[in-house]
Amino acid sequence: MSLKTCCGCFSNFAPQELTGGRCLDCRRAKERARGTRTSRGYDNDWLRLSANAIAQHPYCSNCRSTEDLTADHIVPKSKGGRNVLSNVQVLCRSCNSGKREGGRDRLEASSQRNPPPGFREKQRGWSPAPGRDGGSGHGRNP
Ligand SMILES: [Zn+2]
Ligand SMILES: [Zn+2]
Repeated sequence: MSLKTCCGCFSNFAPQELTGGRCLDCRRAKERARGTRTSRGYDNDWLRLSANAIAQHPYCSNCRSTEDLTADHIVPKSKGGRNVLSNVQVLCRSCNSGKREGGRDRLEASSQRNPPPGFREKQRGWSPAPGRDGGSGHGRNP
């Protein structure tokens, strides 16, 4: 039995594990990178809907940016969300991708209550820097 090389990750696999020259992982990665729109229900309806949402709401609902806007399901389709305008929110690309990393809860929390200004500065203001420059006759010699 001869192994075949996946053209994505260049590992060897049994021939039946490769489809189109790629292993399962590489095929998934490739699908994720492009072409997931129709496979996950992002069809023409969704494209029209998202264009509509952006036209009616031409700014990011998180940071008010007007650049790189993308539409996104509020309730994901996988959880029963529907392709209707009331289930679409407009986010800029960075907020949209940030949401994917941090989770929707963080996004909602941050848009509802902003931390008071100066909240961070308190921690940042001073740094003690201990022990720097300690060698030049600092109390060592009488
Ligand atoms: Zn592979
Ligand atoms: Zn934004």
